Amino acid sequence: MVPAPEGYLAGVRALCDRTGAAFVLDEIQSGIGRTGQWFAHQEEGVRPDVLTLAKGLGGGLPIGACVGFGRFADAFQKGDHGSTFGGNPVACAAALAVIDTIETEGLLAHTKVMGDLLAEQIEGIDHPLLSGQRGSGLWRALVLTGPHAAHVQEQAAVRGFLVNAVAPDAIRLAPPLVITPEQIGVFIEALPTILDAAEAAATKEQQS
Ligand SMILES: *Cc1c(COP(=O)(O)O)cnc(C)c1O
Repeated sequence: MVPAPEGYLAGVRALCDRTGAAFVLDEIQSGIGRTGQWFAHQEEGVRPDVLTLAKGLGGGLPIGACVGFGRFADAFQKGDHGSTFGGNPVACAAALAVIDTIETEGLLAHTKVMGDLLAEQIEGIDHPLLSGQRGSGLWRALVLTGPHAAHVQEQAAVRGFLVNAVAPDAIRLAPPLVITPEQIGVFIEALPTILDAAEAAATKEQQS
């Protein structure tokens, strides 16, 4: 959950253009609407040569995809990548349904609005364990003032929220793109209690 610094991706693009290297972007987590755009790199106005996708693409069914553009579009020929279930119709139908649903239910715009709402409400929380946040759309990290992420993850789970301690001091929030303002409200209401409980657990750990 570390956003690329301003101009970083454009710099990589320029470097690849100059040297002929392939610009491969892994959007397995960030793609398929997670940031409020189909792909996170669209926010930067750059285009990769190869894009990897999975996770959200299947909406729960296992699928991965490797997409090539320009001279990389036909780099993979039939038979180059042997896979028993690669391209199987069930997983592909699921991916098509996901893409269709995001489009017809306006989930990109919804993700942007819900992401802004989530960020705004996190901003309003004043807690000694919370130092800030980063990310975009519904792909965010709570930044903690110390290495207490494991405690926060645990205390959130106890209260029914599945979040991920992606770094000792960072908690990833990646809720479903169909989340409602009410559901965000429930989480925000519980967050100070979760942070209190994590702080208590950390203090107890230090004392023992
Ligand atoms: C999950 C993940 C992968 C691995 O994807 P698989 O489909 O399990 O191989 C690769 N990159 C990122 C960023 C991921 O989040």
